[in-house]
Amino acid sequence: MTSVHTPARLPALAERTGHLADSAIGAVLRLTGTSDVIPLAAGSPAPETFCSQEFTEVTTRLLKRDPAALQYGDASGLPALRSWIAAQVPTATGRSYEADRVLLTHGSQQALDLLCKALLDPGDVVVVDRPSYLGALQVFRLFQARVVDVPISSDHGLERLGEVLASEPRTKMIYVVPAFANPTGTSLTAPRRERLSELAERYECVLVEDDPYRELGYDPAALPRPAAPPSENTVRMGSFSKVLFPGARLGYVIAPPSLIDVLMKFKQAADLGNSHLLQQVVHDLVQDSTFLAAQLDRARGVYRERRDALVSALAGAFGSVLDFEVPCGGFFVWGRFPQGTDTARLLTAALKEGVSYVPGTDFYATDPDRATLRLSFSCARAEDMPEAVERLARAWHDSSEDRRE
Ligand code: PMP
Repeated sequence: MTSVHTPARLPALAERTGHLADSAIGAVLRLTGTSDVIPLAAGSPAPETFCSQEFTEVTTRLLKRDPAALQYGDASGLPALRSWIAAQVPTATGRSYEADRVLLTHGSQQALDLLCKALLDPGDVVVVDRPSYLGALQVFRLFQARVVDVPISSDHGLERLGEVLASEPRTKMIYVVPAFANPTGTSLTAPRRERLSELAERYECVLVEDDPYRELGYDPAALPRPAAPPSENTVRMGSFSKVLFPGARLGYVIAPPSLIDVLMKFKQAADLGNSHLLQQVVHDLVQDSTFLAAQLDRARGVYRERRDALVSALAGAFGSVLDFEVPCGGFFVWGRFPQGTDTARLLTAALKEGVSYVPGTDFYATDPDRATLRLSFSCARAEDMPEAVERLARAWHDSSEDRRE
């Protein structure tokens, strides 16, 4: 006998669902889905850097030692890991953070969501760099913020930011990725970060420093730099995703204790806290300084080699047709075709040739520069970079010919 299903009658969805964008991150990950496409789209870390052997050993040891490792944990995070983070994250003043300023989150992505829950009413203003991390833009829009973009890293960026802050009294946050940014690969200088922190204080908003790439510098001049001073108006976010593995879904936010308390209550309502087990495993891993130094060295070595292979192939194949700067760290090369190629259109030809990337449009809150693109070197092997770039160059030549016809 076959059963007959009547379509479910669901209630009307909440008003806020109208602000859910198509998942730009999901779209990026899908671009990398097939094995015959060389992946320069997704900014995922390289599985070759994941410390799976050490992970297995530590987990087994932990479970033998204490079955309660599988228990619920503290919604704020494992106290020992909060203290470790507070002691590790550098500050410009040399003072370290207190552990009660640290909240563990499901990746730094959740920290963004919690911050928006705590700070934003519909119509509040968030000022972002131009271009900016698309995963953050997605969250700000969901909370119905008015996103104003300013080229914060450019020569007149701070002047322009000052004007925006003076004319937008509803500004609640200034959002930046200070080191080896997604998508541009560039870093903010220490004086610029201090100035941002001062502006946040003066205009009574929060400077959000989203800093998951800080440890991934590949050149001697790109060693981790001090953070902005722990001013009451600066909120810092970090992540274990790029240094260990993103499957831990472990990130953190550092903020004044009064704000941490609010974020913790939202976190408790959302998920009762991160995995107690994974936090203990990560804590055991990172507190072993010999392991951590070797892990960082290994990751930096893999990414340095991939970056070098990508940038030398790009310079050889494109010459002056593509402008880009060599990033000193992180995962990304940000390029621009000065003659104005539309990179969203070029993508169709590139995927046909068997290479992916992300068109720059997705990273702009307003008025996108359509000639830009983000090429990620984190996921593709160094030996595949010349072929990836050849494919991209073929796609570019073919589509240039199409334009001439
Ligand atoms: N911020 C930035 C700038 C990122 O690039 C990413 C990852 N792509 C995240 C936050 C989120 O990372 P996670 O949630 O894994 O910590």
